[in-house]
Amino acid sequence: MRKLASIRKIDAIRPIPGADAIECAVVGGWTVVVKKGEYTAGDLAVYCEIDSWIPHELAPFLSRGQEPREYEGIRGERLRTVKLRGQLSQGLLLPYATCGKICAEGEDVAGLLGIVKWEAPVPAQLAGEVRGAFPGFMPRTDQERIQNLSAEFETWTNLAWEVTEKLDGASMTVYVYDDDVGVCSRNLNLRDTDSNTLWQVAHREQIITAILDSGRDLAVQGELVGEGIQGNPYRLRGQNFYVFDIYDIRAGHYLLPAERREFCEQHELAHVPVLAHTAKLADTLGLVTIEQVLKFAEGQSVMGDITGPEREGLVFKCCDRALSFKAISNRFLLKGGN
Ligand code: AMP
Ligand code: MN
Repeated sequence: MRKLASIRKIDAIRPIPGADAIECAVVGGWTVVVKKGEYTAGDLAVYCEIDSWIPHELAPFLSRGQEPREYEGIRGERLRTVKLRGQLSQGLLLPYATCGKICAEGEDVAGLLGIVKWEAPVPAQLAGEVRGAFPGFMPRTDQERIQNLSAEFETWTNLAWEVTEKLDGASMTVYVYDDDVGVCSRNLNLRDTDSNTLWQVAHREQIITAILDSGRDLAVQGELVGEGIQGNPYRLRGQNFYVFDIYDIRAGHYLLPAERREFCEQHELAHVPVLAHTAKLADTLGLVTIEQVLKFAEGQSVMGDITGPEREGLVFKCCDRALSFKAISNRFLLKGGN
């Protein structure tokens, strides 16, 4: 689904006030700072999204004269959100010719260029022992970034959305399917061992019992936050699990937000913070552009006390159909958040 690096048309080139060597290129919902004159509006180029791991040879300047870092055996650098001359810059543009062959607009070129997605390392007590790959009968918990949805977004502002805080932890899925019961991390199905935190929490919160009670084959997906996870930004004791999605495996679709929240209430499962439900983006929240949504995503977390940290962002889920997206707070990213 998600394209880390793809052939994109440059929508616009904009000057940066006071800068004469650099300017901005706009690609969909993304703005990236480039060398002045290197690109022209309408050009095709390779756009690499933030969190791409860029092999050193593709863009040696990213290492700023230092030894390149290494990730999964690839020497290179991670693309982070930066501000240059006061201008937010996200991602990397490379000339079309980098591909070394003819590629169509929209084509995914990450594989061709050896670009992989950087992911934060998973602590041992979360990783546990692997039972297998993430099962194919349910979706992973990924969310698409709003910056990649500029065409779709225009038609979504009159729909009703549930607005939830995006929690900064680790993805966890608990499922019951046929006679199989499982607990998965973002990418793996895990073995039920005493030392595995995800399984411990699944037992403690009686998530499997809740699913069995419902008599349905469901995958309950949520964020595990707390000690030992992502630096525990909310300064919690132990670990808590907050549901953000429930997937009906047999029917092959997610429960709608209202139904999901009701399930959580009934079974006393904590739910990610809901900042608004059934809110029309345009009328109720006054959000018409992607820039406005990104600004709206910035704010303090409602987790923890009044000195709660900068929130990671928001995840929007449509109240009556299968649509969702994330808006990561740029303020969070600039403060070094992942
Ligand atoms: P990212 O970690 O940036 O790739 O964003 C997607 C991840 O956000 C999902 O895999 C979830 O683990 C996590 N997440 C945290 N809070 C929420 C939320 N409120 N709704 C959906 N996903 C969430
Ligand atoms: Mn995350």
